[in-house]
Amino acid sequence: MTNQGSPQAVGKQGGNNLDPWYHHYAERAAGLKASEVRALFAVASRPEVVSLAGGMPYVAALPQDLVIDAMDRVMREKGATALQYGSGQGVPLLREQILDVMALEGIKANADDVVVTTGSQHALELVSKLFLNPGDVVISEGPSYVTAMVIFKSYQAEVDHVPMDEDGMIPAALIEHIAALKAAGRTIKFLYTIPSFHNPAGVTLSWERRLQILEICRSNNILVLEDNPYGLLYFDKPAPDAIRSLERDGVVYLGTFSKTLAPGFRVGWALAPHAIREKLVLANEAAVLSPSSFTQMVISEYLSTADWKGQINTFRGVYQERKNAMLAALDEYLPDLTWTNPAGGFYVWVTLPEQLDSKAMLPRAVTELVAYTPGTAFYADGEGRQSMRLAFCYPSPENIRVGIRRLATVIRGEMDL
Ligand code: PMP
Repeated sequence: MTNQGSPQAVGKQGGNNLDPWYHHYAERAAGLKASEVRALFAVASRPEVVSLAGGMPYVAALPQDLVIDAMDRVMREKGATALQYGSGQGVPLLREQILDVMALEGIKANADDVVVTTGSQHALELVSKLFLNPGDVVISEGPSYVTAMVIFKSYQAEVDHVPMDEDGMIPAALIEHIAALKAAGRTIKFLYTIPSFHNPAGVTLSWERRLQILEICRSNNILVLEDNPYGLLYFDKPAPDAIRSLERDGVVYLGTFSKTLAPGFRVGWALAPHAIREKLVLANEAAVLSPSSFTQMVISEYLSTADWKGQINTFRGVYQERKNAMLAALDEYLPDLTWTNPAGGFYVWVTLPEQLDSKAMLPRAVTELVAYTPGTAFYADGEGRQSMRLAFCYPSPENIRVGIRRLATVIRGEMDL
């Protein structure tokens, strides 16, 4: 940073002149800026707008009775514990049950190495807090998960994007990026990757590449931060096993119940090598004392008594139907564009004709009652104007069709200008 110690510079980057505390914020607050599309998304939440923008799970597919029963039993049988502070590492029984969830993706672990967090978002925050100094570099796919990058930037780290193709991050490109960063004297702290059903790109890292990327990181002494919220939401066949299934000491693995159950519980977890796990627990305690005992115990009860694997199957069916609706509508209304065909998860990544700019086009789309997320949101460096992320998780198949038809009208209008 060239402007250390200059409060004006902080203000210029992230502050607001009308804010009386403008000159008082820490430099790290400069990364916390409302995105330019945020105001538009407020408009896009009106019911007449088909929003293909947000990644909200379709929680209506979860029978509420199952959750009500679990809550009821927790309160009647263990209410005093559920309402109390708990362990900073998480409820022991739930940590055991999390092992069963991770086993579905080939992971063998010890419950002692699991830390329950307030969603995997909070695990991203804690890992960043432990590792990132100002000026450090995080390598990630390009594009990458927007709110992870917000965290990395808030610790004044830089994100270096490695390109992807339909099989995920390209190993040869990763080697080149590492060499260039090292030659420039930069400190690489970790590789952040979403290997399965990527947000936003919708692609999956192949098994061969998982092996290669792990080997590249091993030989360069780079920690892998594997973020896997969507892995169990595959359509026809499971994703390759997690990178963590191959290596215990060099990988911090993040999981969550947000997509396989519901995000309102705010329960996720980190599985970390022992020494990192100890620090994560201390950081978790410093931040929240203990994650919510109540929601952890409700999830634990649900896992013990309900057919949770069957429920994940139901979610898969719902999302696959929606993905099929989206791709069929793209085929019909926008055959000249290109897009990824995700084998699971929530997102399709669309590439627009060269002359179009997804960010500039968004206000027009919202006027036509359809919303999407411009590609620029998913790059730390302003790239992505020619791309957009379409989320198929929340709207009904019929509404997805309506949304894509409206999008086609907008795109055709832009091309004719
Ligand atoms: N990582 C990725 C890639 C995500 O898409 C999300 C949610 N959109 C998260 C982490 C955070 O999920 P949660 O905090 O709900 O577990």
